[in-house]
Amino acid sequence: MTDCIFCKIITGDIPSTKVYEDELMYVFNDINPKANVHLLVIPKQHIARLDHLEQSHQQLIAHMLLKLPELAKSQGLDNGFRTIINTGPGGGQEVDHLHIHLLGGKNLPGFH
Ligand code: AMP
Ligand code: ZN
Repeated sequence: MTDCIFCKIITGDIPSTKVYEDELMYVFNDINPKANVHLLVIPKQHIARLDHLEQSHQQLIAHMLLKLPELAKSQGLDNGFRTIINTGPGGGQEVDHLHIHLLGGKNLPGFH
């Protein structure tokens, strides 16, 4: 998976602004933020898309989802936040490494 840009971000081969990291996941600022807060939450394991998840990933995906409120609070989002997962070309996914967008704060856009 050496040509996956998010795998390279996890290893540090591509720089990123890290917000959080543990043994299962890595969180960083989106390079082209769509709102005042725009994080990308990714598994360290290379999983290309949401529809590539398997039963064996249950604990991993639960761990990522359960971490979101804490991440949002750490960014000052006390009043709620938005999460988006684009899947495949039909969903507008541009980077083929599963990622959860966590957005909030001023300038939060509508759906488009
Ligand atoms: P998606 O369209 O759901 O695949 O979203 C991919 C996201 O990755 C976009 O919001 C990009 O701005 C973001 N992105 C692409 N390259 C980088 C990078 N090197 N560092 C941080 N974010 C990136
Ligand atoms: Zn990857």
